[in-house]
Amino acid sequence: MLRIHYSLESQLKDGIADIAAPEELSIQVRNLVLKTAKRKKVGFGSTIAEHPSQSGGAFHAAASGTVRDLDYHHLVIACGEGGDDAEPVNVASLQPGRELLRTLQELGIDIAVLSSRAETLVINGMNPEPGVSVAEQMLADEMENLEAGLDVACALIEPQRTILAVADASEYRLPGTTPQSIKAKYPNSLDALVVKAVTGEEFPSNAKIMSVMDLYALGRVVRTGLPVTETVMTIEGRNYRVPIGTPIRHLLSCLGIKAASGDTVVLGGSFRGEAVYSLDEGVRKGDYGMFVISSDAFPHVQDVSCINCGECVLNCPGRIQPNLISRYAEYEMFEMAEKHGLHSCFECGLCAFSCTMRRPLLQYIRFAKDQLRAAGRSEQA
Ligand code: SF4
Ligand code: SF4
Repeated sequence: MLRIHYSLESQLKDGIADIAAPEELSIQVRNLVLKTAKRKKVGFGSTIAEHPSQSGGAFHAAASGTVRDLDYHHLVIACGEGGDDAEPVNVASLQPGRELLRTLQELGIDIAVLSSRAETLVINGMNPEPGVSVAEQMLADEMENLEAGLDVACALIEPQRTILAVADASEYRLPGTTPQSIKAKYPNSLDALVVKAVTGEEFPSNAKIMSVMDLYALGRVVRTGLPVTETVMTIEGRNYRVPIGTPIRHLLSCLGIKAASGDTVVLGGSFRGEAVYSLDEGVRKGDYGMFVISSDAFPHVQDVSCINCGECVLNCPGRIQPNLISRYAEYEMFEMAEKHGLHSCFECGLCAFSCTMRRPLLQYIRFAKDQLRAAGRSEQA
């Protein structure tokens, strides 16, 4: 097996840059509970959708305008004169408890991790994937927001120890946390592996983990009283503050990046990112990178047969059999995929990245989990 070192190191040269405002926003609303309608005017920061789960954060307009289009998948806002902008909420005045959690959720924060106590809080300060430097950029430039986020997280979680996981050569620190170095090699940055490296246990019940990106979003909300309306993304080695819903086409045009016919644009990183179907797709909450992969860079992913070479099994840090699980998923035998460890997969993408036949293994795995979740047949899916 070829062992490649997928480095997570970054070389930051500049601060976070802003992107020019787009003419329209395209927000993915599939499976969300809509709070607006076609032709309605929306203001900056107004709630446009809520998450169906008890802990998912709400979604807000990143600019004022009019809802030009709305279907099951997308809500398109033509930016311009719209409704009233959201008023800041005095989050800092709220005491730890239900009202604070509800307010944070209404402002777009996913509150699952904040809703109960834990002995250990791990802040994941590792860059999420090779080529994405958002985590270290925030540790370099966003200390006030990170400290504000940490204060609130600690008030709610009440940890006895708080650890900052950082790459081994990194000198980034966060006051109030104890640094712990981790080898800067993918997939060591994934939450499941970071928690294990810090605590020595797999999925310990008394530890919680938040990324510095989560902490930054929390701190921004607390300091400004305004909802989450942007994400920070690495594009061609530099980090940009991007309004949620900004179409890919706008990003490419602003930054002078060419995507030729046949090239693939990926939101997220090379291992876990997703190819976009259309350049009109908008950036989503939690997208931390964008890559344009030229059509001749790799052989295409294809639904061909597995040849049982075993590369994916040897590469899998979850110690499961991606070849077998993906085949069960491919033939819609989801319960068999579950029996063979589907839920032990933490979606690092190494199996698909290393597949000799270029089978879409991670996509099959995500498909199986989605189908089980949609059918309500699995609590863990
Ligand atoms: S994505 Fe693939 S390699 Fe990674 S844990 Fe899941 S099955 Fe294993
Ligand atoms: S790497 Fe691809 S071809 Fe090889 S065993 Fe895994 S799924 Fe099959």
